[in-house]
Amino acid sequence: MDFAPDAAMQPYLDAAAEIAQQIAPDYSARETAGQIEPELRLLMGSRGLIAPELPTALGGRDERALTTGMLTEQIARGDLTVAYVQVIGSLVGQILSRCARPEVAARWIPRITSGQDIVAIGLSEPGNGSDAGNPSMTARADGDGWVLEGTKSMSFAMHASAAVVFARTAEDRRGHGISAFLVELDRDGVECRRAPDVGTRAVGRGLVTLQGVRVPGEHLLGRLGGGFTEVMQGFDFSRALIGLQVLGAAQVSLEETWEYTSTRIAFDRPVSSFQGVAFPLAEAETLLAAARLLCQRTLWLKDSGLPHTKEAAMCKWWAPKTAYDVIHQCLLSHGQYGYLADRPLEQRMRDVMGLQIGDGTAQIMKLVIARHSVGRAAAP
Ligand SMILES: Cc1cc2nc3c(=O)[nH]c(=O)nc-3n(C[C@H](O)[C@H](O)[C@H](O)COP(=O)(O)OP(=O)(O)OC[C@H]3O[C@@H](n4cnc5c(N)ncnc54)[C@H](O)[C@@H]3O)c2cc1C
Repeated sequence: MDFAPDAAMQPYLDAAAEIAQQIAPDYSARETAGQIEPELRLLMGSRGLIAPELPTALGGRDERALTTGMLTEQIARGDLTVAYVQVIGSLVGQILSRCARPEVAARWIPRITSGQDIVAIGLSEPGNGSDAGNPSMTARADGDGWVLEGTKSMSFAMHASAAVVFARTAEDRRGHGISAFLVELDRDGVECRRAPDVGTRAVGRGLVTLQGVRVPGEHLLGRLGGGFTEVMQGFDFSRALIGLQVLGAAQVSLEETWEYTSTRIAFDRPVSSFQGVAFPLAEAETLLAAARLLCQRTLWLKDSGLPHTKEAAMCKWWAPKTAYDVIHQCLLSHGQYGYLADRPLEQRMRDVMGLQIGDGTAQIMKLVIARHSVGRAAAP
């Protein structure tokens, strides 16, 4: 296992570091505007920073998943919400490359990797998030296509051109009889409403209602009734990416805090010379390093074709919790200045908090870990 960036990986990391520096000053402005600039997406796409692990033939760069993870962490150092573009691009790109008909994949994946379009993922519903295998959205066969009815809750609801949505295609046991579809969001019968979230507002999360929306038959992803089991596999990847995304925001917060505390004077000394200030930060360094290794190892398992569902669930509950706790500690270590709204710390805390929920809560991740450890029958 070697996580040192190699020669192939380095140009992506350099480009990501350059873009992170460029986007950092507008972190707060992006929240106020409620969007990520489309030109920024195009710039990231042109530098190969969106889903580079996808095959070259589909607009990717045949890079390792580990490369995507490392560059996601880099981008998140500048603006964690911009790194959502990487996470959603890789999640949906993987789903389409594995499950879409070749002509649908060829049409949509290059639009994602170039930054031209965002394709969102609609699994949760207003009445149903953790119990995702039991959706209310329905899809009924209609001639050579499908008609969808229901409401989904998703990131990028306000900015995506299309979404992968999960709908019930048969009355069956939970998880079975669920199919996935690619739905363009400019179709008749689609309505998008922004959610008044406390954070990650640039991502434009919201509710997407489909009322009698017709999609062509070739937009079915994977097998009919196999959507849940087949398509859900993509989440193992996004969980490790989210881990690195939040760690990027926490690491930069920690670096800023060492800088601040080593120059802020109290009792005639830099406050970092007090153990009460320095030791929590030293502990934070340790926790971030450990969480990063967990996420990188999960991506290494993916790159090696080895199972990593349990490890991905560990990344998803532990990295956001650790990142949130570290940023909170950083805010406190800044004293009154940490509490100012014009500093990025409080915004990062609100944004990371969203990722303690989005893509599955800590409780659901611990269920996954327990089931993979003792089997379903003996787990909660
Ligand atoms: C920032 C953000 C971005 C998001 N982006 C997307 C997106 O792009 N696409 C998408 O489809 N969804 C998205 N979501 C929705 C998200 O996936 C759900 O909110 C999440 O899965 C939890 O579902 P819920 O909100 O319905 O909570 P509920 O399922 O109602 O759960 C409420 C509480 O009960 C706990 N709980 C539920 N069941 C169990 C159980 N069996 N054992 C123990 N505890 C349990 C939960 O952990 C939670 O604490 C996003 C959410 C946020 C906040």
